[in-house]
Amino acid sequence: MTESAGTPLEPLPGDWRRALAVVAHPDDLEYGCSAAVASWTDEGREVTYLLATRGEAGIDTLAPEECGALREREQRASAAEVGVERVEFLDHRDGVVEYGIPLRRDIAAAIRRHRPELVVTLNHRETWGSSGFWNTPDHVAVGRATLDAAADAGNRWIFPELAEQGLEPWDGVRWVAVAGSTTPTHAVDATAGLERAVRSLLAHRTYIEVLTDEDPEAYVRGFLTRSAEETGKRFGGRPAVAFELFPR
Ligand SMILES: [Zn+2]
Repeated sequence: MTESAGTPLEPLPGDWRRALAVVAHPDDLEYGCSAAVASWTDEGREVTYLLATRGEAGIDTLAPEECGALREREQRASAAEVGVERVEFLDHRDGVVEYGIPLRRDIAAAIRRHRPELVVTLNHRETWGSSGFWNTPDHVAVGRATLDAAADAGNRWIFPELAEQGLEPWDGVRWVAVAGSTTPTHAVDATAGLERAVRSLLAHRTYIEVLTDEDPEAYVRGFLTRSAEETGKRFGGRPAVAFELFPR
């Protein structure tokens, strides 16, 4: 893979105050991104989470109605571990999220409501890079729609019904940062946030207990530490969270 193994990652720009993180499922942000979020909220920045689904199709042994409520609770607890109080859900259907106008409109509306300078999302490409693993259609749909909605939010004429609802255009998104990208360009130091990132992923306990036979804490700590150290090889040896940055 042309993952440019040796190319150093640049520090993510720091001149912003509000971020909106938009992903498909509960746990998408915690699998690698929440150490960065912890350091942002430490610095007094506002971070809001927007989830397209409640992850209700994520646990084979739990029916969606029960599962959705449980995963929402776990997601809110998880966000609180890294200083995020606002968590919103769009209620698209887990597993069959469609890229299209309704999804772009929903995300553009949230961008207008929260007026972020930085938008964060998860890998929108078909695979997870050199691992060869196929990405899920929900991640692809939400990632692409988020990249598009960053521009839609600023254009009065793309979704005129939003302005009629009192959501004025917001053309202030300066970057979209994609976590889990196959071709990262930037990184955030994870040193201060790593311990809280472990707790935030661990908050998805029901999901993780189904996922692995390993002790949940050992699994979570191992996964996040390895991934931060791997990124750190391209970030001066400091554990880090990688992003591909799309400027606007
Ligand atoms: Zn996911």
